[in-house]
Order: sequence, then C-alpha cells, then structure tokens
Amino acid sequence: MSDHDERPLLAGVAGWPILHSRSPVLFDHWFRVTGIAGRYVPLAIRPERFAEVYGVLPHAGFRGINVTIPHKLEALRLADEATEAARAIGAANMIRFDPAGRILADNTDAYGFIENLRQGAPGWMPASGPALVLGAGGAARAILHGLLAAGVPQIRLANRSQDKAEALADAFGPRVTCVPWSARSDAVNGATLIVNATSLGMSGKPALDISLAAAPAGAVVNDIVYVPLETPLLAQARARGLRAVDGLGMLLHQARPAFRAWFGVDPVVDAALRRACLPDAA
Ligand code: NAP
Repeated sequence: MSDHDERPLLAGVAGWPILHSRSPVLFDHWFRVTGIAGRYVPLAIRPERFAEVYGVLPHAGFRGINVTIPHKLEALRLADEATEAARAIGAANMIRFDPAGRILADNTDAYGFIENLRQGAPGWMPASGPALVLGAGGAARAILHGLLAAGVPQIRLANRSQDKAEALADAFGPRVTCVPWSARSDAVNGATLIVNATSLGMSGKPALDISLAAAPAGAVVNDIVYVPLETPLLAQARARGLRAVDGLGMLLHQARPAFRAWFGVDPVVDAALRRACLPDAA
C-alpha cells in the first residue's frame, strides 16, 4: 500500500444476489484482528448494470472488489489488465483499482484451493501422484490451474457432461485426461488426491455417489463444497482413514491476496476465522 494513497480503506464484493456472501464477515474479522480501520461492503449489482457500476467504483474511492457469480467473466473481459492466472482460468474474482482508476483483474481461487490443501493436509506433495478431479464448472477450472501450477503430474477429470470435461482437458493440455463419469470410482485407484468440484453434497443436493474403496492409503480427499462442512464424501474418506480436507479454507484463503493488495497486511487463516465464517447450515 502506498503511503501517498489518499483513498479510504474501502473494498467490497460484487454479485447478484449477494446477501448470502460470507465475505463481509470474513473481512470484518480481519479488520478486527489487524486493527485496520477498513470497510468491506456487499455490492448488489444486476448483471445488466455491471459494466456501468464496475467502471465507476475506481472513481468512488474503492481500492478493489471481489467478484462473484454472475460477474466473474465480465470482470475479466472489462479489465484494463489481467494476471496470467485470471487469463488461464478465464474468470476474475479479485480486482485491484490503481489510484489512476485502472482496473487490474486477478483470480485467487487457485491460490485459495492450494493453500487450503497445504494447511489441511500438511506434507501433501503435489508431485506424489495423479489427482482425480470431479466436475468441470468454474471452480474446476481454477482447481486445474492450481494443481498444474503446483506440479501435479497428471489429472484425471470426470464430469457428468463429458463434453465439458473434454473442453477443459483441451484447454489445459496433455497432463489432463478425461475419465467417463461412470468410471469415477475406478479412477480413484492410484490417485493421491481426490477433489469434489461439483455441487453434489451441498445441502439440498444429492451426495456425490463414489466409492473410495480403491484409494491408496494416505490419499488426500478434498471437498470444495462447504455447506455442510462435513459432506458425505469427507465422512467416507474419514471412515476409510484417508486425510479429509473441507472446503471452507478455500474460501478463506482466496481472500488473503485481496486483503494484502488493498490494505497492505497479510492476514491469517486460523480457527477463530473459521468459527467466525462457519455457514449457518454447517
Ligand atoms: P458450476 O460452474 O455450476 O459447476 C457445477 C458442477 O457440478 C458441474 O461440473 C456440474 O456438472 C456438476 N453437477 C451439478 N449437478 C450435478 C449432478 N446432479 N450430478 C453430477 N454432476 C453435477 O459451479 P462451480 O462454480 O464450479 O461450483 C461448484 C461447487 O463448488 C459449488 O457447490 C460451489 O458452492 C463450490 N465452490 C466452493 C468454493 C470454495 O471456496 N470452497 C469456491 C467455488 C465453488 P455438469 O457440467 O454435468 O452440469
């Protein structure tokens, strides 16, 4: 943060709808523990108004915003500059406005995903073997980028709609191979990391129907769904003695680079933050 930056310590999260977002609670916790007198506000922006409001925020004192559904693609498209991560993932979730009003787009979901794995499964080694990723939506794109950048040698990708998995495999190159959705339980064999990036297992949705019986001992199982915190997949992993990592930490860690960029301090993800941000239904 520049000493000469005259802007208020102001940021927010743009989405539609936005009232469910945990991000204001998360940032308020960090403001309390760091003593930074910042403000982080929910910004309810209709899709048809996004471009207009996005262009104005840098001139209203905002240092940046997080962007969530449905604005992540537009936030990237309309930015003046974008990081390599945002371009590779094809979406932006963290925006910096420089003092001159330029819009700089980044994506910190891959970072949040990897940091959560490192914290939740200490000693996890990306190069230790193939990963199995289930799902081919927006979150899966970030996860593939994060895993490949971290050095995972091979990713098996399974999705209900095979065409979407194939499109992702094409986009991310030869280290990603598609596995038929019907073969997902077999694809667990030899996988040292298994990730649910579908919305299955969320409260109100059916469980992810997969058997972890063939998973190697010591495999890490991560569910990015965090409502509930303990999904049926994680319960199955624990019952098998595998290492289980829940999805809340991905949400918390993806926010750290934003706090650092806007307010100049690297905040901590710890048990107190997790308690503060636990979803009501968790
Ligand atoms: P998305 O783009 O809508 O993708 C949804 C994925 O779930 C697709 O792969 C879809 O398969 C699959 N799916 C949905 N219903 C299914 C069903 N009945 N059977 C099989 N597959 C099904 O959503 P997203 O943004 O990637 O998010 C996915 C999940 O991750 C959500 O629950 C979201 O809350 C969670 N998430 C968590 C974090 C975090 O920080 N922890 C971050 C982002 C997202 P098809 O392609 O076949 O439709």
